[in-house]
Amino acid sequence: MKKILFASSETHPLIKTGGLADVAGSLPIALSELGQEVRIIMPNYQGINNYEPGRYLCTVRVNNCDVNILETHLPNSGVIVWLVDYPPFFNFPGNPYVDEAGLPWPDIGDRFALFCRIVVEVAMDRAYLNWKPDVVHCNDWQTGLVPALLSLEHHRPATIFTIHNMAYQGVFPSTTYTLLNLPGQLWNPNGLEYHGMLSFIKGGLSFADRITTVSPTYAEEIQKPEFGYGLEGLLAYRRDILSGIINGIDTSVWNPSTDAHITQTYSADSLPDKKLNKTVLQQQLGLPIDAETPLFALIGRLVDQKGIDLVLSCLPEMTHLPLQFTLLGSGDKSVELKLLNFARLYPEKVAITIGYDEHLAHQIEAGADMFLMPSRFEPCGLNQMYSQRYGTLPIVRKTGGLADTVVDTLPGSMADGTASGFVFSDAVPAALLEAIKRSLVLFDNKPVWEKLQRNAMSKDFSWLNSANQYMELYREI
Ligand code: ADP
Repeated sequence: MKKILFASSETHPLIKTGGLADVAGSLPIALSELGQEVRIIMPNYQGINNYEPGRYLCTVRVNNCDVNILETHLPNSGVIVWLVDYPPFFNFPGNPYVDEAGLPWPDIGDRFALFCRIVVEVAMDRAYLNWKPDVVHCNDWQTGLVPALLSLEHHRPATIFTIHNMAYQGVFPSTTYTLLNLPGQLWNPNGLEYHGMLSFIKGGLSFADRITTVSPTYAEEIQKPEFGYGLEGLLAYRRDILSGIINGIDTSVWNPSTDAHITQTYSADSLPDKKLNKTVLQQQLGLPIDAETPLFALIGRLVDQKGIDLVLSCLPEMTHLPLQFTLLGSGDKSVELKLLNFARLYPEKVAITIGYDEHLAHQIEAGADMFLMPSRFEPCGLNQMYSQRYGTLPIVRKTGGLADTVVDTLPGSMADGTASGFVFSDAVPAALLEAIKRSLVLFDNKPVWEKLQRNAMSKDFSWLNSANQYMELYREI
């Protein structure tokens, strides 16, 4: 049994802005189920959905601040959450990173530096909690100073630093370093200094005992300039301790045989039942009801990362193919307008829903035949895993977690029963279109298509699988 302190700036369902919260709200539960003693530590924001009010535990003084530690639990699990309570930093409306108007908090560096200092005090058992972890598992730049500060301590716990997205690094002017009262010996290019600035993420990358990211392919990609954002050299230097572990999905929420959002539940053994979901979806979207016309779907943020420009370039030709296309998402306003324009011009083929709608997302996963995910980069990605569980074959670009979770349909993978979707390499419209056409050919061959659906639906994307891989790492360090 190991004691694990899991440090994160957000945890679902207490507070969430992105995928990090999903991991922080799921992995600790899976680790507990494997018999580990896990405590989550995060800031006590005003916006937290506190199902159970935090109970006062103690006050710790760091950097002239008196900081309270409160205790609560993850709802529906026994996992303890320690809330770092310092109202002058965290008791504001807005989310962990931006205010209500969407502007970044001006003192965000001070806030997370204080958070990191408290994590260190807890990790060294100097916070009167009478609990010392074996491993401190840090996540993203907001916790980056923890491995750096712990490196200066004797008899310290081992540290893991997980990168959820290299695009966010926590870089501040050098003056911040002095204002934060950080130890002088960490200010050098092998430490927290990055081209004369303070980099929080470098604390994790330079000092953690192990670095992980959320897919094996992304772990390779971030060692290259295109994805490393200036830190590819450091990552390549530390590649011996860098690895990728795919995130799990919540298999109770995303389960076609129990999903309360969908009209007709189904499983790999009752694939014909999936059809009713398609009929209902076509009706709801105002598309012609036709089981034989393949229905392609896309759900996601309409941003560059997701390759939405490739889809826009393919749409004119797609409207000449025997297919329907539906998209649910929001983001870039000009993209939204172009998509809506296609829907206006081709109401028999294209249905666009702008917005965020979890209920509809489940109905689309159940009702569609193919799911498009042509991302330019994708640290892990979730929708391609949901799609496979729902027998909705994903068409993905070969990058990050997409490359690791979807097996392209080729003679070899069809023969050995691993084929579960369609994969293309180049981020160009012609390559996406070619993959779409490949899927169209197979869609007409029902026995083959159903075999692919069953392959996809039988894959294990559970957290248990990923938690076991993290356990392996904890044991090593
Ligand atoms: P990212 O975290 O980069 O946005 P992921 O595929 O990892 O991409 O996860 C996105 C999650 O958000 C998925 O659960 C997806 O279904 C959901 N999602 C994204 N956009 C929407 C939307 N417009 N409506 C409902 N769910 C959405």
